[in-house]
Amino acid sequence: MADSCDVFVIGGGPAGLAAAICARQRGLSVTVADVGEPPIDKPCAEGLMPDGMEALERMGIPADSLGGCEVEGARFFNMGTMAEAKFPGRRGRGVRRTRLHETMLGRAEACGVKFLWRTRVSNLSAGGVFLEDRLFRAAWVIGADGGESRVRQWAGLNRGMRGSTRIGFRRHYRVRPWSRSLEIYWGRAGQCYMTPISDAEVCVAVVSGDPKLRLDSAIEEFPALASRLAGAEALTTERGSFTSTRRLGRVWSGRVALIGDASGGVDAITGEGLSLAFRQAPALADALACGDLSRYQVAHRRILRRPTVMSQLMLWIGRSPRLRRQTIRIFAERPEVFERFLAAHVGMASDPSLAASTLLVGWHMLSA
Ligand SMILES: Cc1cc2nc3c(=O)[nH]c(=O)nc-3n(C[C@H](O)[C@H](O)[C@H](O)COP(=O)(O)OP(=O)(O)OC[C@H]3O[C@@H](n4cnc5c(N)ncnc54)[C@H](O)[C@@H]3O)c2cc1C
Repeated sequence: MADSCDVFVIGGGPAGLAAAICARQRGLSVTVADVGEPPIDKPCAEGLMPDGMEALERMGIPADSLGGCEVEGARFFNMGTMAEAKFPGRRGRGVRRTRLHETMLGRAEACGVKFLWRTRVSNLSAGGVFLEDRLFRAAWVIGADGGESRVRQWAGLNRGMRGSTRIGFRRHYRVRPWSRSLEIYWGRAGQCYMTPISDAEVCVAVVSGDPKLRLDSAIEEFPALASRLAGAEALTTERGSFTSTRRLGRVWSGRVALIGDASGGVDAITGEGLSLAFRQAPALADALACGDLSRYQVAHRRILRRPTVMSQLMLWIGRSPRLRRQTIRIFAERPEVFERFLAAHVGMASDPSLAASTLLVGWHMLSA
């Protein structure tokens, strides 16, 4: 294999693969390195939102190539109240992370991306990157190395970083999905999620600010979920990871740019982490193709804006039992309000429409 390329991507997770595919689509030569080997797994609730599906399709990865399970909308549960709404237009999908990785990798290889697996990048250099002691030359370097990004640190992009972090755990169960919606069970210490990922399998996750909260005790708080899972075989062991709502001052420096969780992101409560990376990737590739990473900064800020607002709104609802009760009761009684909220969440409503639904919820709360 040659030891030089136009674009070197550090991290072969979903963000790195998306960045690599989009850069190849613009004619750049690309090499990706990852310490792991495929298929790469990661603790995740495994829900892909409609905006992420659309971005994948533009990369040449249609929904049916992913397998998994189509997801029609969302259900919120809170103390015996259930609200339900469908996504407007395009559907989302529940897909096992390993399957997502295999499919994206297949597409990247077909595009001509080169891979270095079981390879740790140890630092940046003036003309590329160091793979332990070996120099690999590259005109551009992309840091797609996840939330605890070393590339971000090496490039001096940690300055001005702010945000908050929670922890999540997930496990798969062999059970026929009882709904085609992403389910969120809102509880005292955090939220439980159920994503249908095949005709016979669901992914269940808990995300909270309490590092001691594990899936079994979290599920006990939700009898409706516990009874669905009673007796179901656990297919995987419980695995955990951090999730952050994080904003950086800058996402590029010189010839280095960040993407995905490395570039900041939103809490897992939004289900938007993957979609963000898939929408950032074409913007980054466009900026690389015209040799101007400041364009990527502008696009990155625009792409992150809506999910950040939704993340803060949902975390705020999660923290206040009274707000949670009122919001989900309004969503249950007025499904059209929940539908507008969901449409705004997945970027299928304009900013004025988002403002209108927020005002509507506020008005209902005041008059309750
Ligand atoms: C509990 C939980 C539930 C979630 N649920 C959802 C959900 O339902 N939907 C959704 O869209 N998002 C969800 N997310 C968020 C989603 O998992 C992340 O946004 C996504 O994994 C980010 O992908 P990434 O490629 O940026 O980073 P990662 O997936 O972390 O990949 C980074 C890669 O970089 C590699 N790497 C790191 N350092 C180096 C190095 N020095 N050299 C070489 N390789 C390196 C790693 O091995 C890894 O493969 C969830 C997160 C959590 C924690």
